Amino acid sequence: MHGQCLCGEIEFTADEVPGVVFNCHCSRCRRSHGADYATQAFAVRSSLTFLKGEDKLTEYESTGGIRTFCSACGSRLMNYGKEGVDYLSVATACLDNGYQGRAVAHCCTSGKAPWHTPTTDIASYPELPDNL
Ligand SMILES: [Zn+2]
Ligand SMILES: [Zn+2]
Repeated sequence: MHGQCLCGEIEFTADEVPGVVFNCHCSRCRRSHGADYATQAFAVRSSLTFLKGEDKLTEYESTGGIRTFCSACGSRLMNYGKEGVDYLSVATACLDNGYQGRAVAHCCTSGKAPWHTPTTDIASYPELPDNL
């Protein structure tokens, strides 16, 4: 996966965990992304490489982990779990157009926006399941 923020100051690559892409509908993701849900792809944490702009990356710690964004343009980029977790999740919205992954599930729908109706073509889970 190759992604960048809106202003282009931050650019990164990471190795995807194939097939683990989901739409998170929880209120924390909705607020931090400024969207009705956030599509996230799991990646191997140790594979995350910043091609540039790592010093522009700002971290915000909230329930369940650390959310990052570009300090210059505000683009949401990736979430890390607590220390010792081998995976991170990348906001697919910041990936290049050639990205082939597709969401396989709607997660955390118990916290979804009341005005939003998730599609029915993929599975829905009230929380984040242990294995997607
Ligand atoms: Zn930026
Ligand atoms: Zn969420």
